[in-house]
Parts: sequence; structure tokens; C-alpha cells
Amino acid sequence: MAHIIVIGAGFGGLTAAALAAKQGHDVTLLEKNDQIGGRAYVKHVDGYSFDLGPSWYMMPEVFERFFAHFNKKVPYKLTRLDPSYRIFFEDETIDVSADLKENLALFDRLEPDGAKKLTRYLAQAEYQYNTAMKHFIYRPYLKHTDMLNIKLGIEGAKLKLYQSMETYVNKEFTSDKARKILLYTLVFLGGDPKRTPSLYSLMSHVDFNLGVYYPEGGMQTVAKAIAQQATAHNAKIRLNEPVQRINTENKKVVSVTTTKDTYAADAVIANADYHHVETQLLTKKDTSYNENYWAKKTIAPSGLIITLGINKKVPELDHHNLFFATDWQRHFANIFDNPDWPDNPSYYVCKPSHSDPTVAPKGCETLFILVPVAADLDDTDKDAYAQQIIDHLDKHAPIKGNITHQEVHAHSYFSEHFNAYKGTALGLAHTLLQTASFRPRQQSPKIKNLYYAGQYTHPGIGVPMTVISGEIAAQLIK
Ligand SMILES: Cc1cc2nc3c(=O)[nH]c(=O)nc-3n(C[C@H](O)[C@H](O)[C@H](O)COP(=O)(O)OP(=O)(O)OC[C@H]3O[C@@H](n4cnc5c(N)ncnc54)[C@H](O)[C@@H]3O)c2cc1C
Repeated sequence: MAHIIVIGAGFGGLTAAALAAKQGHDVTLLEKNDQIGGRAYVKHVDGYSFDLGPSWYMMPEVFERFFAHFNKKVPYKLTRLDPSYRIFFEDETIDVSADLKENLALFDRLEPDGAKKLTRYLAQAEYQYNTAMKHFIYRPYLKHTDMLNIKLGIEGAKLKLYQSMETYVNKEFTSDKARKILLYTLVFLGGDPKRTPSLYSLMSHVDFNLGVYYPEGGMQTVAKAIAQQATAHNAKIRLNEPVQRINTENKKVVSVTTTKDTYAADAVIANADYHHVETQLLTKKDTSYNENYWAKKTIAPSGLIITLGINKKVPELDHHNLFFATDWQRHFANIFDNPDWPDNPSYYVCKPSHSDPTVAPKGCETLFILVPVAADLDDTDKDAYAQQIIDHLDKHAPIKGNITHQEVHAHSYFSEHFNAYKGTALGLAHTLLQTASFRPRQQSPKIKNLYYAGQYTHPGIGVPMTVISGEIAAQLIK
């Protein structure tokens, strides 16, 4: 039985801890904050519950597979949302349905042969998804040659690895609205349509075919259910205990020092932000990725988060709502090319009280607004900026006279709360050169018993992806 220390209780860390504990190891998970779940952080205020992180539960099979390792079914209630989400364009509102037939009719309305084109597009997306899941996702990439396997060589072109999402979608669809609907899924990956390989059109299979779900109680329910598997196998979870140092001897981790104690370790799985671990917890000689490395990377967006308690019902909004800017190129440019606060942003509004009465007082609504913004911006004026978003939202869903609670968070929340590099919400963007073995490795190139799980490493951003990263880290430990 080895002593395994896991640093960070995000989905990657929790999954790795549960699976390593099931292998029979003595696992201790050390978390800086007062809750498990990492980015899926929840605040309770005056009868409202605000999920400050993920809210779209997608790729249910990933969670089914995790619980199947423990001979269990998914232990929480899932509801498939219908509509999956509502989109507010400046001139009309469109619901993307859980029923494919309705979406085909929608696309026929948006452009000539829309249904036919969507059918073809989704067939390709399904092929990409299935191929990626079978051959490329559930596996570690420890050296560049791991990417050069025969299957990837053959499938790479078919998978449309080498063109951008924007080029691909613009070729397939002519209407502005159809294009926007299909490209927006990239925001889940912190992606820019110009830079993200069109492989990620697989997200449309995830969205249109596999569906969007809500786990009763929100994402904390999922984190708790994973943590429960860990503790059932005797893993210890210590909250409010930030790790300060990873101690090594002869290129091996020997222990981990926190603000409270030092823990002997035969191996460490680091789930805290990769940049923080490499540059703050390791000494220079043990670092594989120094500041120069990170400075050259395309960092995924941060987010402006506004939480609102509303003392009335807001029927104009569904559970998931997307507001698309007319000139959305400018917003993407403000994230990736000329980092700045966008003046006409696209944004997302979640109203979980639509599906879950426990997250708001009776007759009230819980709202969570997320504006993707460039990492590394000064967020001093975030409250004034938030007011512009509320003003815009108020035109579509009148709320201004009924706000009883309001909080705004941005870059400094992510930096202070999660030790996030440049205040990023999502870690490393998914560009072609930041995919698979081009992401920071799951095993430290220098310190052999130091492993990584989480959104910076393969397979990347999103709750399902980080669960998979935890599974890969546990496989490596084994
Ligand atoms: C606002 C927002 C909305 C999102 N929406 C969605 C969505 O709808 N659906 C979806 O699938 N994904 C979504 N995502 C992405 C998803 O939430 C993340 O990709 C995923 O949760 C990251 O998990 P992780 O394993 O990388 O760990 P993280 O969640 O990053 O957790 C890392 C943990 O390490 C801890 N830590 C840091 N430093 C130390 C230290 N020194 N010592 C100990 N612990 C430390 C942190 O406190 C944190 O708990 C969203 C993310 C954000 C921020």
C-alpha cells in the first residue's frame, strides 16, 4: 500500500483520489478551500444557492463509467433539460430542443437545406466523438511520439484535426444564426472558433444528440458523490489545508508540506492549477514547465460572474440561456487577440431555480451570469461592467427592481481562490498545439512519481474531461 497525496479537490483530484483509494492505496487529499468541487464552488446566501462554476452536465456516459468502477449506478437524479437551452439573438429567441426533429425543423427555417446539413454535420460529429472516446481520450500522453500512433495518423484527416472550427462550420452552413449555434459550444472549451481544431465539432454530438442534463442539487451533488466513493475506500479529505511545498529527494517526491503538517508521499497527484504547482510548489530544479513556457501558451478565458437573487419569477428565462452579440467576432478578438473588456459581449445566464426549487426561496429565482473575458485583465472596474450586463439582460427579462442579492467576481476571484494563472477560469485553451501530448504532461517529465490531473492537462477543460483526467492519473499510479 502506497501513500498517495492528492493536491486539490476539483473533479480531477476527487476522481483520482477515489480510484487510487479503490486500488488499495492510502490516499490523503489536501484542499486549500473550505469545500470540495474546486471550480464547482457553491455559495449559500439568504436561502439562495449560487453555483459559481459549472452548470451544464454533459457526456453522462463519463460519469456512468466512473461509478461503474465501483459497481454502482450514477447515485443522483438526473433530468434531461428540454429545451436544452434558449438563445437570445438581438431580433428573436430560439429554443434548442432535446428533440432532434425539432432542431432539424429549426435549421430548415434558418437556411435552405438546413435539416439536411445539420444531419450530415451531426453524423460527422458523432463519428468524431466515438473515435476520440475510443482511441484518443482515455489514455495518457507522456511523450510527443504517443500522438504519432497509426490510428491517429489514419484518422487525423478524417477527424478534421487540421482545419479550424470556423472554417469548417462556415463551409457547411450559410446563415449567421446556424453558424453561431454550432460554434458557441466551443466556449465550453475556452475556445476561439478560429484557433480550435474542427475535431471539436464533436461537441455538437454531445449537445444535440447526447443531451444536456441537470443533476439534482447542482454540480456539488456530483462532486460529493465522487468524494463519497473516495471516503468509502478510506481516503481522507482535508479541507482548508493549502499545500505550500512538494519536497523531493533524488528526483522523487518524498513528502508534501501544508500550512498544518508534512505528509510522507510515495506519489503525488496534483490537481491544483498546473502553473501554480510547477512554479510555486516545486523548486526551480524540479520544475518541468517554467514561467517562459506558460507565457507562450494560449490561456483560456477568465469569466465575469454575477450572481443575483431575484424576489420574483423570471419566466422569460429558461434553465440555460445564451445571449449572442451581433458582432461576436469582436468579443472573441477581445478574448484572444486584443485582450480587453468587450463592449458588446455574448454571455450566458443560468436559472437553476427553473428545474430545482431548493436553490431559491419560494417564488424567487437564482441567477448566475457568466461573461467569458480574456485572462489577465485588471478587474478593478468589474462592478461597473457587471451593471452594463444587468442593464442588457433587463431589456429581455425585467429584473432590475427585484434584485435582493448581487455579487460580482472575476479574475482576482480565480487567482485568490484557486491560485489560477492570470486569473483564468478554465486553464489552457484547446488549440491544435495544446492538444493531447502538446498539453502539459500527466506525469512530470522530471519527477517520476509526480502526476497531474485537471483541466490544464489532457483531455482538457470541462467536468467530464477532468473526471477522465483523474481516471488517467489513477491508471498511471497503478
Ligand atoms: C464559471 C465556470 C463555468 C463552467 N461551466 C462548465 C459547465 O457548465 N460544464 C462543464 O463541464 N464545465 C464547466 N466549466 C469547466 C469546469 O468547471 C472545469 O474544467 C473543472 O471543474 C476543473 O476541474 P479541475 O479538476 O481542473 O480542478 P479545479 O476545479 O480547478 O480544482 C482545483 C482545486 O485545487 C485547489 N488548490 C489550488 N491550489 C492549492 C494548493 N496549493 N493546495 C491545495 N489545494 C489547492 C483549488 O482550491 C481547487 O479546489 C466551468 C468552469 C467555470 C470556472
